[in-house]
Amino acid sequence: MHLLFDHITEDLVPVPAEKGISVSVLRLDKIHPVISGNKWFKLRYYLQEAGEQHKKRIITFGGAWSNHIVATAAACKINGFVSVGLIRGEEPAVLSPTLLEAKGYGMEFCFLNRGDYSKKRIPAEWLKDEYYLIHEGGYGEKGAKGAADILQYCKTDFTHCCCAVGTGTMMAGLLNAVSPGQKVTGISVMKNNTGLEKNVRSLLHQDQKEWQIIHDYHFGGYAKHQPELIAFMNEFYDQTKIPSDFVYTAKLFFAVSDLIKNNFFPPGSKLLIVHSGGLQGNASLEKGKLIY
Ligand SMILES: *Cc1c(COP(=O)(O)O)cnc(C)c1O
Repeated sequence: MHLLFDHITEDLVPVPAEKGISVSVLRLDKIHPVISGNKWFKLRYYLQEAGEQHKKRIITFGGAWSNHIVATAAACKINGFVSVGLIRGEEPAVLSPTLLEAKGYGMEFCFLNRGDYSKKRIPAEWLKDEYYLIHEGGYGEKGAKGAADILQYCKTDFTHCCCAVGTGTMMAGLLNAVSPGQKVTGISVMKNNTGLEKNVRSLLHQDQKEWQIIHDYHFGGYAKHQPELIAFMNEFYDQTKIPSDFVYTAKLFFAVSDLIKNNFFPPGSKLLIVHSGGLQGNASLEKGKLIY
């Protein structure tokens, strides 16, 4: 497993000239076909702390298609930890490609029914040994600290940074890293995630940065999609050769395109869109829907 941080590029995306703005995409999806994007950054400082505390076993939570689960499995393998994934739902007859990949990195699974999963209760069998717990999606201060490192890979100046928002950890990290005057716009991929602003705010070092989360582009909710979104993904790929995933980055690119259409960003704006990876999740889509 090779992680190709030197493959990260900033790709310009064409925008109608009359808008007077520029748009580039920071391609964190190029780090690795499966372990791509922001999850890797978010895990780093948790694993460092686990090492300092001499913990051998990392436990975390996620669904059967979770980018976080597979990234945790890979990061643990590289760093010499045992990983345990507490997975939402009954054990399936056939593991998803995501779980198969994670298993290949040595992750052990424990399947929790939805009730137990929502309580985030760790089953007794895993409590007996010492372990280090990473929250679902890597939410927390150390996750935000890692996400702040993402901008080290951005070479060009920008006025606005746009990102997809799940737990809000990446957005908080980006906010902690941007300079005064640089705005951050987050696109929530969930429906009615009313606690999100508070979750982001609690990870900020100072609340003087300008930011906003837009909640209108969830396409029905987390991991939900509609034909319009799939059609957009194909069109966007056709125009830019940038692949997106239907859970996070497609909603982000769709939203930014729509916001540009509606003159949300003033002339002179230089947008940086963070492609946070996650392409492996497209494997859950029916074959043939995507042209890439
Ligand atoms: C997890 C994930 C996000 C959301 O990150 P948060 O820090 O949870 O908000 C965005 N994009 C992709 C591809 C992800 O896997």
